[in-house]
Amino acid sequence: MSSPDKFREVMSNFASGVTIVTTRDRDKRPYGLTVSAFTSVSLDPLLVLVCLDNRLSGLSAFKDSGKFGVSLLAESQEEISRMFARKDSERPDSIYFDGPAGMPLMRNSLATLECETAAMYPGGDHTIFMGKVISSDVIEGKTGAKPLMYFRGKYHRLP
Ligand SMILES: Cc1cc2nc3c(=O)[nH]c(=O)nc-3n(C[C@H](O)[C@H](O)[C@H](O)COP(=O)(O)OP(=O)(O)OC[C@H]3O[C@@H](n4cnc5c(N)ncnc54)[C@H](O)[C@@H]3O)c2cc1C
Repeated sequence: MSSPDKFREVMSNFASGVTIVTTRDRDKRPYGLTVSAFTSVSLDPLLVLVCLDNRLSGLSAFKDSGKFGVSLLAESQEEISRMFARKDSERPDSIYFDGPAGMPLMRNSLATLECETAAMYPGGDHTIFMGKVISSDVIEGKTGAKPLMYFRGKYHRLP
């Protein structure tokens, strides 16, 4: 037997990295949120997926823009993760840079990707966005910086 609470508890035992998934709204302003449901899917073609809550205020921005960015956070970016998991938090322009495809990406991340939305699938109370990778870069990852991790409802760092 399982229930939403049990499911949450079970899934919290799956350690993940932390990403910020971004897009631009109709006025070209950046919108983004903290996402752990990010997965590499295919090498040929290059595909990734992210799962976004159907109740997100910015879901239509993702659907309308047809593109999204993914920034893989470094261990130094816990504050950024908290900022993008909080509704209505102030997000200064200085935290972003523009990727080659025009998506807002997070400065000082380990690595970044930009994607064109190749497909959207219903996933219960979430929508699964399949993205074709159109640009990618390793940033702080080159310096040996380590990832920010999320496990059992808390942030962690690799030893
Ligand atoms: C480590 C971590 C990983 C996360 N991973 C994911 C992920 O993979 N996918 C994902 O979608 N989110 C994920 N989140 C949550 C997500 O980051 C936040 O919900 C997001 O910042 C909210 O976006 P917003 O600021 O635009 O707020 P809003 O879009 O305005 O709303 C925030 C949230 O409030 C809740 N909400 C809205 N309306 C209602 C309603 N009527 N009734 C009940 N609840 C409502 C929803 O959960 C909604 O997502 C994660 C958060 C953390 C900390």
